[in-house]
Amino acid sequence: MKTYLFHGQAGAGKDTQVEKILEKFDVERIATGEMMRRMKEDKDPYAVRVFREKVEKGIWPNPEETYTMFETWVKRFDPNKDWILVSVARYPEQIPYLDKVLEKVGRKLDKVVHFTLTEEEALERLANRKVCPKCQGTFHPKFKPERVEGICDLCGSNLEVREDDKPESIKKRFEQYAQTIEPWREEYKKRGILLEIDASPSIEEIHEVVLKNLEFTNGR
Ligand SMILES: [Zn+2]
Repeated sequence: MKTYLFHGQAGAGKDTQVEKILEKFDVERIATGEMMRRMKEDKDPYAVRVFREKVEKGIWPNPEETYTMFETWVKRFDPNKDWILVSVARYPEQIPYLDKVLEKVGRKLDKVVHFTLTEEEALERLANRKVCPKCQGTFHPKFKPERVEGICDLCGSNLEVREDDKPESIKKRFEQYAQTIEPWREEYKKRGILLEIDASPSIEEIHEVVLKNLEFTNGR
C-alpha cells in the first residue's frame, strides 16, 4: 500500500488534484482539518481533554498533542488502501511526529508531492477565487468556473470572496509560506522522496503529471 503526503500553498489546487484521484482510484484521503472537532464529538477522551485544556482557552495544541490525536484518527481509515495525507505535515518540526505515527501503523511515506506556484500565479489564482461558505468548495473564473455564476456547484449556496483573498494578504501569506516551507522541502529532498509539481498548468495537465509519477493500488 502506498502512502503519499500532498502539500502546497493556497491556490495550488492540491485538493482538486486529490478529488481527481479519488474519482479513479479507491484511496483514503486523510486530513486533520476536522480531526479535533470530530474526535471531540465522538467523545474520544484525549481529544476532549485537549479541547478543554487548550482549544477552549484559545491555545493551539502542540505537536505532541496533535499527533497523539492523529495516531487515533488514522485508525478510522482502511489500512488495506493507499493513503493520501493532505497537508498533515507542513512545518519541519512536524515531520518526526508524522514519521512516528506512520511507523506505528507499519507505513512510511513513499512520496511527498509539493504543488508549487510563483507569487504572480498565486496572486492571479487567489485574487479571483470564490469560496462556498457552506461546503468550502472553491471556484475560479479562469481555472475552475462554477456552472451558474455566483452559485456553488456542490451545494447551491451563494459564493463569496474571502477577506484574506485580497492581494495584500495573499502577498503576505506567500512570503510566510516560502519561508517556512524551505526546511520542510530540504528534509524530504534529502530523503529522495520529494516530487515537486508546477501547479501553473491546467487541472487536467497537472493530473496527468500526478498519474505518471504515482502508483495507486485499487482502481474504481
Ligand atoms: Zn457549497
